[in-house]
Amino acid sequence: MREEGQRMNRVYNFSAGPAQLPVEVLQQAADEMLDYGGTGTSVMEMSHRSAAFTQIIEDAEADLRELIGIPEGYSVLFLQGGASIQFSNIPLNFAKPKHGVADYIVMGQWSKKAFSEGKRLITANKIATSEDDNFTHVPDLSDLQVTPDADYVYICENETVHGLKIWNLPDTKGKDLIADLSSCFLSEPIDASRYGMFYAGAQKNIGPAGVVVAVIRDDLIPTEDIEGVPLLCQYKTEADGKSLYNTPPCYGIYICGLVFKYLKSLGGLEVVKELNEAKAKLLYDAIDDSRLFNGTAAKQDRSIMNVPFVTGNPDFDARFVKEATAAGLINLKGHRSVGGLRASIYNAMPLEGVQALVEFMDRFEKENA
Ligand code: PMP
Repeated sequence: MREEGQRMNRVYNFSAGPAQLPVEVLQQAADEMLDYGGTGTSVMEMSHRSAAFTQIIEDAEADLRELIGIPEGYSVLFLQGGASIQFSNIPLNFAKPKHGVADYIVMGQWSKKAFSEGKRLITANKIATSEDDNFTHVPDLSDLQVTPDADYVYICENETVHGLKIWNLPDTKGKDLIADLSSCFLSEPIDASRYGMFYAGAQKNIGPAGVVVAVIRDDLIPTEDIEGVPLLCQYKTEADGKSLYNTPPCYGIYICGLVFKYLKSLGGLEVVKELNEAKAKLLYDAIDDSRLFNGTAAKQDRSIMNVPFVTGNPDFDARFVKEATAAGLINLKGHRSVGGLRASIYNAMPLEGVQALVEFMDRFEKENA
């Protein structure tokens, strides 16, 4: 009964992040809040060097490795500083100090930010972009003109604001691919061996803000101290310390671990992908069948996590957000930089939530057409 009551009070949260988490995970965390596993303390209160927390972080890593199928020779790190600090750490760690060169694909707000930060620190080249089209499609990546001395090629695989997804990883002509997967992490199976590094901020698909999961091929992690780079910005420090060089975001790691177990219990990432595709199809079909709503991303590049759409009339958009909120469908406003509407339908959004949104859109259209 308690569980039912709690479910009933919850709204459908379409936020791009921090985002909805699985009720089952929140319920377990609530049950374990005061006394985790007979320790008499909550995970928030225990030493990061305790036996109980050691088990939590080791299990989280093992479950993630199993879920993704991370091959030998890759390190899994639990980091802090948000996904954004990786925009700095990636050039600082992977490009030759001061003289480094790297190539960036710029196809939305987050790759643009990473590129801007790269430019501050090294020679960063924009080798493909769709900025002149307001980031409404993925640029042509079929024959990338990779810079011969580039240390890596950088992508943001799912652009959260613009709702774009790279569905086929580009041929980087032998250069290491570094990918920001923040808004599509664990939404589908991936081939980890295609990447030199991939990373994700937790607050969309896997847990609370404050944790970043990074998976890095070991031979890319510098073996020597990088002069002038703070220790905590060096991946070597975190790899050597097994993410425990200093106090990690313990509680966040614990929740990520619960989410990993939950995704395993669903049947793994193949199953998760099918669920996500079904939700996205329902929403995109509704948009495509509508005379009021239009999707803003090119069809072939549509994200199945972030779905931006517009009515074309800012007053209608604002009314839609207001009335949807009153109906228990929250955070449907588009990103402040692009306006319009956006539904983020991460792993934890149930099909029923998307059904409720589609029914609401239909009603809104009939009332306003
Ligand atoms: N990359 C992507 C794809 C994102 O969506 C976001 C946040 N929305 C970030 C990076 C930045 O994350 P953080 O706020 O954790 O720095």
